[in-house]
Amino acid sequence: MAVAAPGQLNLDESPAWGSRSVDCFEKLEQIGEGTYGQVFMAREIRTGEIVALKKIRMDNEREGFPITAIREIKILKKLHHDNVIKLKEIVTSPGPERDDHGKIDGNKYKGSIYMVFEYMDHDLTGLSDRPGMRFTVPQIKCYMRQLLTGLHYCHVNQVLHRDIKGSNLLIDNEGNLKLADFGLARSFSNDHNGNLTNRVITLWYRPPELLLGTTKYGPAVDMWSVGCIFAELLHGKPILPGKNEPEQLNKIFELCGAPDEVNWPGVSKIPWYNNFKPSRPMKRRVRETYKHFDRHALELLERMLTLDPSQRISAKDALDAEYFWTDPLPCDPKRFDIHEFSIYASSRSCMEG
Ligand code: AMP
Repeated sequence: MAVAAPGQLNLDESPAWGSRSVDCFEKLEQIGEGTYGQVFMAREIRTGEIVALKKIRMDNEREGFPITAIREIKILKKLHHDNVIKLKEIVTSPGPERDDHGKIDGNKYKGSIYMVFEYMDHDLTGLSDRPGMRFTVPQIKCYMRQLLTGLHYCHVNQVLHRDIKGSNLLIDNEGNLKLADFGLARSFSNDHNGNLTNRVITLWYRPPELLLGTTKYGPAVDMWSVGCIFAELLHGKPILPGKNEPEQLNKIFELCGAPDEVNWPGVSKIPWYNNFKPSRPMKRRVRETYKHFDRHALELLERMLTLDPSQRISAKDALDAEYFWTDPLPCDPKRFDIHEFSIYASSRSCMEG
């Protein structure tokens, strides 16, 4: 196996990874701000191919290469699927980099490391936030099917995403949807379901079991987030926009009812249940709140927004739901109206940390 030169990454299976310089790419513009650094649109000089470069910021790192980046790279190296963003390679910049004003950038002397991804034109939040944008039912079915297919693939490969939300669902002008940002993802094993980090998943998409403090969880956490996105696509805006954890739980209880030992056996043993359990009875109102949704959509949504994670529908079963097999059928991504999407060069949610 090739030995990495100083400042380069040596990733076991592909010795070539980490051996090229970022100078093989021309940065075109900054398109995002991720968990640990900026994201740029760039052109590979030799081939002209457009890619996304995600810079791994090391200036705050006392302990060397960030563990979240190591996790993301390790996980993405083993995932190969049409609905999961493709990590093409890792490139490095050996010396200090300068910003547009000639100032030495962030991590002064250590150099930088970039992840090179296939480029995607939009993210789902950016696309749906466009003024006047309303997806058609076949488009929603098409996106949902791709989201579930990608997630099913992750779950079968024992990977939890743990940050499913619109800005992490990237979309190209051909209508393809890919899961991205695996910075919070981790591997899990079916037989050892315990002691995972509790504070994961962006608040609005976080399931009740995490808000109640569990550290024992599995793929069902991602399925709650999928339910929130599904309802958001149909409703036109986020359905559970809490400002803090107690408010988030309260919004969930108002919509899904209060959890108890009848609808969620074992809930009273979850660490913070007694602190947060509502003092008054609250009944489930999913059906009445979304009575204007089509019958099959509502049936599927009910099964995604199920309080008890052990009863929540899996990605695999969701793909078999009537919703995807009844008229109007999901459209073929290839038949999306590309021109409608291309009016603007791209649409992304505003840059967030
Ligand atoms: P991330 O840290 O992966 O969440 O990236 C932050 C933002 O950068 C995303 O919300 C996207 O808008 C953008 N971005 C990330 N990866 C890509 C990509 N492969 N193609 C285009 N834009 C991307």
